[in-house]
Amino acid sequence: MPTPLMTIPGHIDPVPVPREVTPRADGRVDLVGLSRLGLIDLFVVAGLDARAAKLRAKQVFHWIYHRGVTDFDAMTDIAKTMRPWLNDRFVISRPEIVEAQASTDGTRKWLLRTADAHDYEMVFIPDADRGTLCVSSQVGCTLNCRFCATGTMRLVRNLTPGEIVGQVMLARDALGEWPKAGGNMAGLEDEPDDDGSADAAQAYSADGRLLTNIVMMGMGEPLYNFDNVRDALKVVMDGDGLALSKRRITLSTSGVVPLMARAGEEIGVNLAVSLHAVTKEVRDEIVPINRKYGIDELLNACAAYPGASNARRITFEYVMLKDKNDSDDDARELVRLLRHFRLPAKVNLIPFNPWPGAPYECSTPERIRSFSDIVFDAGISAPIRTPRGRDIDAACGQLKTASTRKSRAELDRLAEEKQAALG
Ligand code: SAH
Ligand code: SF4
Repeated sequence: MPTPLMTIPGHIDPVPVPREVTPRADGRVDLVGLSRLGLIDLFVVAGLDARAAKLRAKQVFHWIYHRGVTDFDAMTDIAKTMRPWLNDRFVISRPEIVEAQASTDGTRKWLLRTADAHDYEMVFIPDADRGTLCVSSQVGCTLNCRFCATGTMRLVRNLTPGEIVGQVMLARDALGEWPKAGGNMAGLEDEPDDDGSADAAQAYSADGRLLTNIVMMGMGEPLYNFDNVRDALKVVMDGDGLALSKRRITLSTSGVVPLMARAGEEIGVNLAVSLHAVTKEVRDEIVPINRKYGIDELLNACAAYPGASNARRITFEYVMLKDKNDSDDDARELVRLLRHFRLPAKVNLIPFNPWPGAPYECSTPERIRSFSDIVFDAGISAPIRTPRGRDIDAACGQLKTASTRKSRAELDRLAEEKQAALG
């Protein structure tokens, strides 16, 4: 059934006044998310001289991000007399787990809570040759893509670098993937690339780790929380710490054109773009940021994305919505656009994952197959994503909404309120 056209409430700008993070009640500072330089600065402010601060930062960085330690007393190369000094001032925390679920297909999902009591989500998807962690960048989202459960929520606030890195740390905890002291992973640190990031691909498959890839595809628009996402991913890529290669990290954007070049230059990870439609009319409806940055502008920014090449293609995500964006003509127009802008592209066809009150249905398997064949026959890879974790509502935004189910009318009202509040 075609969806009647209506004004889509919503806002397409970043958080106007980013909400401050509430400090911890005990006054201690959480170290998770800080870079080596950030640790040095903090230790100097707390009273160490420059040389001592540099040494301690190097040690603490390694313990936090490489070894997964959360207790200063476990930092055996730091003098016993020094450890209470650290303990009094700092903590190494993890996000609080509100709910953890495991699907019959191995997909795992966590509902997490920030220290100031905001809920967000993280999903782990194991495959034969990789394990992908889907990480959130915001609590809610300012954008209102009409098929997305997160889009129906209020934006509460940006996640801090600590809360973004904290998701990766928590996943390592849950998967039991920190190297043990004297264990056989101790000698497997990756040599950093010349840009400082580690090319962990070989080492990770060699040591049998489950968490090999990260996608910034959880709740939120990562480019509307640019600084925190950049700082977090830099920590995740650091060869002395979590050491995930930039080739194994993908940032997904709904099309925040002005920040795409900076993402390529300052973060350098793979790019995925939530295209989802090939005409202005349909994209305006389902991905409202299109009204601000249209398809031509978006594809031009993709063509200019630093680091994109045939070896590192841009992924175009396309959610399959029945009678909305799934015709053979749509598929042919998609091929034309990708060729016209000379994009090194692959297309991910995502069967729509329905949620209560969603105004769309998923396309039929035959329709999706026909769409895929057209794109594939044009020489562009167009795999159909197998839905994962459907029994646990694993599409991002769904676990959180499941606890507060609302009608579409209620959701539209909330979105209007959100718009009014954002001015
Ligand atoms: N805000 C970013 C990243 C998070 S959304 C973005 O929009 O790209 C990650 C991906 O999940 C996007 O491609 C989004 O369109 C898709 N998605 C959201 N809800 C979905 C649903 N119900 N079914 C299928 N895909 C969905
Ligand atoms: Fe936000 Fe992405 Fe969902 Fe759109 S698809 S509402 S940008 S999280």
